[in-house]
Amino acid sequence: MDAIRNEKPNLFDFDADHEMILDNADRFARNELYGLSERMDNEEWWPDEAFPKIGDNGLFGITIPEEFGGAGLDLFAAGLVLQGLARWNHAMALAWVAHDNLCANNIYRNGNEDQRRRYLPDLCAGRKIGALGLTEPGAGSDALGSMRTTARRDGDHYVLNGSKIYITNGPVADVLLVYAKTDREKGPHGISAFIVEKDMPGFKVAQKLVKMGYRGSQTAELLFEECRVPAANRVGEENEGVRVVMSGLDLERAMISPLCLGIAERALELTVDFAKTRQQFGKPIGSFQMVQSMLADMYVHVETMRTFTYRTLSAAAKVEIGEGGRGDIHRLTAASVMYAAEATHKVLDLAVQVHGGSGYIWESEINRLFRSTKLMEIGAGTTEVRKMIISGELLKGMKRD
Ligand SMILES: Cc1cc2nc3c(=O)[nH]c(=O)nc-3n(C[C@H](O)[C@H](O)[C@H](O)COP(=O)(O)OP(=O)(O)OC[C@H]3O[C@@H](n4cnc5c(N)ncnc54)[C@H](O)[C@@H]3O)c2cc1C
Repeated sequence: MDAIRNEKPNLFDFDADHEMILDNADRFARNELYGLSERMDNEEWWPDEAFPKIGDNGLFGITIPEEFGGAGLDLFAAGLVLQGLARWNHAMALAWVAHDNLCANNIYRNGNEDQRRRYLPDLCAGRKIGALGLTEPGAGSDALGSMRTTARRDGDHYVLNGSKIYITNGPVADVLLVYAKTDREKGPHGISAFIVEKDMPGFKVAQKLVKMGYRGSQTAELLFEECRVPAANRVGEENEGVRVVMSGLDLERAMISPLCLGIAERALELTVDFAKTRQQFGKPIGSFQMVQSMLADMYVHVETMRTFTYRTLSAAAKVEIGEGGRGDIHRLTAASVMYAAEATHKVLDLAVQVHGGSGYIWESEINRLFRSTKLMEIGAGTTEVRKMIISGELLKGMKRD
């Protein structure tokens, strides 16, 4: 089955270095993370040793310059690391993306020199765990407009009040990039971003949430009750958080696609193996044309996803600091993640079908992968929000009544 996973596409910016990055992440994840995935899924268990190990192997801080402890590569390389990790432990891969992309890369792109020096080396080493808090109980798809968490200035501090929900890494995070309203009158243009540390007074994890998929990646509701954050931890200018959110969301969407791709590749691999070995009517089920049809459909979805994913990563890697959140890249990243999520859903649906009853059993790997698919159509903006972005960009300039 290596033929499927190791197919080397000559695509966009994919070169020998990228091949090495993907192979290296794949090897590390197979040796070090795959063995953790079953217990993570069974118990929503968080293996404390995993993040330092990922850091020791140079697989954090991919997009962050070496002077801050990172690898000094680009978003394309980061996507390949994520694809490799997702093949073997997609829950850890989700924790990785929340840490490395949503938190560390956002601090690098939007933080000042002091913030970069204080936070990035520990995040790149995996000594500290990062998270990003945008979504609230009353503010999901309308995260900016409906945001209720506030931050009021008090001397050389801001005081945060409110809550965040569904935050990946929330229960275990040391460093959180959190959005709050500094001017309620200004709506989305009254939002600022802050770096909150878990020990800051007034911060607490309200509850750890139990999920249907991606189990073991930790998810929480977070509370801020008169939480005092030094003004030095505000990221960017006051009331300019919307820029940070919007450009960060484009990069996040570009990164969800390789997460989907890694999962779908593994599902295809498992399913082809199963079709070759499972016997019915005295033959491998792979000899039946209807099973062959399902495998062919899965393959086409995976390869289309690969092409679109790499094209989008290649474009997103060129987005300068301060750019994104509008225009071609906004449309492309929304389209890529929308396609990847829907294609992964289809691939896993077919994979379970080929696996028959064994695919329906909770403990099987294919079942674990199947339960992961729905989140990709919800997180980082739902399918409907992605469609709104794509059509909104296509219809720009249209006269509306
Ligand atoms: C496991 C998990 C991890 C997550 N991790 C993070 C994280 O690390 N950080 C973070 O900030 N957030 C995180 N999220 C939150 C995620 O981004 C939100 O769940 C998502 O944006 C949707 O918001 P919502 O759940 O409130 O759904 P809602 O916004 O309430 O949407 C419900 C339904 O209504 C539809 N809908 C809403 N508005 C419209 C509209 N105008 N037109 C058409 N349909 C519409 C939606 O598409 C959806 O189908 C995570 C969520 C999950 C489940």
